Amino acid sequence: MHSLGIDIGGTKTAMVLVDSEGRVVAEKIFPTARQNPEHQIELLKRHFEELTANRSLPKTIGIGIAGQIEKSTGTVLLAPNVQWKQVPIKQLIEKAFHLPTTVLNDVRAAAWGEWLYGAGKGCNDLLCLFFGTGVGGAFIDDGILREGASNTAGEIGHMVIDLNGRACSCGQRGCWETLVGGWGIAKMVQEGVRAEPERASLFLQLAQGNSETLSARHLFEAHKQGDPLAKQMIDRVSHAMVAGVASLINTFNPARLVVGGGVIEGYPEFLPLLRRDVPKACLEAAAHSFEIVESKLKGNAVAVGAAACAKELK
Ligand SMILES: [Zn+2]
Repeated sequence: MHSLGIDIGGTKTAMVLVDSEGRVVAEKIFPTARQNPEHQIELLKRHFEELTANRSLPKTIGIGIAGQIEKSTGTVLLAPNVQWKQVPIKQLIEKAFHLPTTVLNDVRAAAWGEWLYGAGKGCNDLLCLFFGTGVGGAFIDDGILREGASNTAGEIGHMVIDLNGRACSCGQRGCWETLVGGWGIAKMVQEGVRAEPERASLFLQLAQGNSETLSARHLFEAHKQGDPLAKQMIDRVSHAMVAGVASLINTFNPARLVVGGGVIEGYPEFLPLLRRDVPKACLEAAAHSFEIVESKLKGNAVAVGAAACAKELK
């Protein structure tokens, strides 16, 4: 039985047709209609026609989106990346496609995909961490994907680890993602360059003179070229990443940790660093019972996981 998975991201939407073994049969990627759910539905309908032409039609639809979702209704309460508030997406999709639809948080969808078909396969005590623009997590405990009392479990990007730290989008200060998420790293780079312009010539060259446009990607590039300021910044990110991961290992005691997201893909050296330093930073009892592996489904994880989840929950 085929299932349709949709990953609604801040800039692009990925739509995949997945078979009963989790294999992607066909896929489409197109720009997300931000701020405009009705237009997004029109786009989905148009791409659905093309995607399913001459193929078996899906029986279910799964949607993964970054934000808080009301589980009972499938309403997106708040999705800042696409600027949606109180959007009854499940209802809109079911009306447009006449197929049972499941809506879930994007990171939870990705974790589901990794668990069933990817790097988490066969592991029932699994922790998945995704370092993208923000940082999200999901935890499978004894074979159950935990959702929490109001469906928001896994917002680990908003663990406060620096009480006097940078302001976060959630209203707190010093959340983990202000230090290790893509947007937080970009802010750190921009501030570091403004504070020491005399050491930042490579950064300024990479950003064509405009420090406002500096991002995590520029940091990884500068580091690759051996820049000392970049090395200092990478050390700061690494330190915060190891501290946060070790705290999560202490909290959840997983058997396997799946790590993915744009920050890890942009700087794969974080993986060996985590493998080396996290066991030293967590409690002795938890330090030797887990392995750290890289996400296998990569960019397709959310869409494949959402499709698999829809099929499972039908
Ligand atoms: Zn926060």
